[in-house]
Amino acid sequence: MDDLMDIFGLHIDAEAGKALGVVYLLQFTLFTVLAFIARRSDAIHWSSEFLKSVRVNWSFIIFNGLIAPFAIIAVTGLNTGFKTTGIPTVPPEFWGFAPAIVPAIVAVIVADFVDYWSHRLRHISVLWPMHAVHHSDTQMHYLSWYRAHIIELIFIQGSYLVLATWMGASPGAVAGVVIFRAFHQQYVHMNVDWTHGRFGLLLASPRFHRWHHADAREAWDKNFSSIIPLWDKLFGTYYCPGRCDVPLGFPNNPGENFVKLMLYPFREWGRMTKELVQRARA
Ligand SMILES: [Zn+2]
Repeated sequence: MDDLMDIFGLHIDAEAGKALGVVYLLQFTLFTVLAFIARRSDAIHWSSEFLKSVRVNWSFIIFNGLIAPFAIIAVTGLNTGFKTTGIPTVPPEFWGFAPAIVPAIVAVIVADFVDYWSHRLRHISVLWPMHAVHHSDTQMHYLSWYRAHIIELIFIQGSYLVLATWMGASPGAVAGVVIFRAFHQQYVHMNVDWTHGRFGLLLASPRFHRWHHADAREAWDKNFSSIIPLWDKLFGTYYCPGRCDVPLGFPNNPGENFVKLMLYPFREWGRMTKELVQRARA
């Protein structure tokens, strides 16, 4: 792996890579056990639709894992580009006044606020096709979190890294946010109707996020918050009327086909460009 990284001219800390691997393994094990406990007999009786969804999600896990070195180069490139803009940043010494947990908590809140708007943008027009891939899973379960187009992953991770650079966040704070977010995001995709009662506006639950994936007109463009649903409440997009039993997905869903899903954004962007050209000529 070191040779691979050398070829790409990028140094990835081997220990950090191993730590990330351990976190992913722990995460996968924990949610597999949780899913079996929560779904009991359902967890072993898979419908053919569910099996197709699992296959596609595993295809995304493997493909995105293989392409990760290229994605890291792209994400690092975006951050290098940001540094050259000369936009003022918070000096890392600024956080020296507080214990390490403070910048980590601030980073979660700031990143989640940015994420709310970034997610809202990804539901609009030209950005929607890359995010639609994540919404294509009609059998939502904990592996659905991994279903994301590589272009969207670069877009999201790039914005996080730029934000961390801008905030002067320490590597420890960044690692804490990344790990917390990864566990929480996999949790909200679980196929369970769990809620958080009076804390529902502070920490997103599986029921809250399931409504975001609902293919029902009343639920479209709702619940954009990743971690803190309070953002949705403040900006008028909160929707969580009760248990979510409506179909999931979106109209014109390309279906459970990995290749079709990988090509989906490019086909949609091609169609949009064609329409634009035709309208300009008319
Ligand atoms: Zn979405």
